[in-house]
Amino acid sequence: MSIPLVFEILFVWVLTSLNSQLEAEMRREAHAKDVVRTVFKLQRDLLDCATAAAAFSLTNDVYSDERFPLTRRWIKQDLEQLDILIGNNPEQTRKLKYAHVVAERGLKLFDDLKSRRAEAATLDSLIGTGTTYGRVRSLVGQMGGATRDIIEEEERILAQSPGMQSQHREMLQNALIVGVGLNVVVAVMLAMFFSKGITKRLEIMSENSSRVAKGEPLHPPVEGSDEIAQLDQTFHRMVDDLNQAEIKRQQLLQTVSHDLRSPLSSVRGILTLLSAGAMGPLPEKALGKVKIAESDVERLIKLITDLLDLEKIAEGKSQLEVAPVQVKRLVERAANSLVSLAEEKGINISRTIDPVQVLADEDRLVQVIVNLLSNAIKFSPDGGEIEVEAAMVETVASTAGSPPKQMIEITVADHGRGVPEDLQEKIFERFEQVKKTDATESGGSGLGLAICKSIVELHGGSIGVRQNQGGGSIFWLRIPQGRS
Ligand code: ADP
Repeated sequence: MSIPLVFEILFVWVLTSLNSQLEAEMRREAHAKDVVRTVFKLQRDLLDCATAAAAFSLTNDVYSDERFPLTRRWIKQDLEQLDILIGNNPEQTRKLKYAHVVAERGLKLFDDLKSRRAEAATLDSLIGTGTTYGRVRSLVGQMGGATRDIIEEEERILAQSPGMQSQHREMLQNALIVGVGLNVVVAVMLAMFFSKGITKRLEIMSENSSRVAKGEPLHPPVEGSDEIAQLDQTFHRMVDDLNQAEIKRQQLLQTVSHDLRSPLSSVRGILTLLSAGAMGPLPEKALGKVKIAESDVERLIKLITDLLDLEKIAEGKSQLEVAPVQVKRLVERAANSLVSLAEEKGINISRTIDPVQVLADEDRLVQVIVNLLSNAIKFSPDGGEIEVEAAMVETVASTAGSPPKQMIEITVADHGRGVPEDLQEKIFERFEQVKKTDATESGGSGLGLAICKSIVELHGGSIGVRQNQGGGSIFWLRIPQGRS
């Protein structure tokens, strides 16, 4: 900031001093003109006065009588004016003193010339004035000599002044052009310097924000003490706080997984033994309570397992072991694990599976299909029908110009109560359920579909639900095709 400021002050100073030099030169010229004009006026008035005196002495006319005192006053005024104009120039003042003396002498002589007529009023007495006229002529000549030096000096100034003025004007013009040019250059350079400094630092900050998202270490704080640097420092502090919070969250999860899951598993073991009568027969009422406790503990363990599962996927710790796998095999494995649950409700699971393969982590995808199937069983009426289908579909490419992708679509259709349209996206978020009672009545936690979504997206696929035309819902998932 101080560099352009100093430059601007210097520029204004140069312009002002050049301008005042030009003005001084113009004033000098005007002053010289005033002096010359006044000197000429003095000479003219002296002649006028002499003429008036002479004319009066010869003709005794009223006009000359009146004109004489007037011109006499003018001579005094001219001298006063000259005193003021060249009062501060000792050399010129010295020359002017002589002009004063000549003028005084002249005035006396003119008075004398005029009074003679008044006194004598005869032609004879005027004879003597012949010498007086000679004296008048010589006096005018003396005045010319006295003022010549003054005029010469001023005329020299008048001759030099136009050249000096145009020289000053040229300098002023050049200074203006150079100054404005430099101003533009400095402004452009400063704009480039500042914008480069700002954009570079903003780029670092923007990269930092994507590094946070990827979990990579941040760039060191940007230099400076301005708003951008302060914003970056706040961002670094915020990320440090987030990292601390993340460490605490992980510690909490570890505590939950070890300190809660292990004792719960042993409680479940004891309850299973109790309900199986391994520790002796239990009274009917006690057996009922033990069974309820067993299923509650079972639900708690599933909830903890689901939570830890989701955390692993979110942290990216869950590595997929991807390989081409037959969809038929995946569906069979999932359906087989749910045979007893389906039989309990008299539900039939029909399958129409094309001989297609997907590129997937087999166990993870079986987990997804099991979740969809168990939900379908849970929400189907007794004796209902569930249809599982799989076929190849072509999806429109996300980027223009690239060929359409071939995906495998697996659908699980049921004829249960269905999922209302406004909740079809929401139920894939954590702890979201269609009805508040779903948690207690069907023993769910609302995490299963969130896990399914994470797993499918890890495979580069997508998942969703739509209305089944015959009532109920159709859950679908699309996974990239696997070639053997
Ligand atoms: P959970 O079943 O453990 O509660 P999910 O995430 O698997 O958790 O399901 C979330 C919610 O979605 C369920 O609680 C239920 O309200 C709804 N839902 C899931 N599948 C179906 C289905 N086939 N029919 C109707 N509602 C369903």
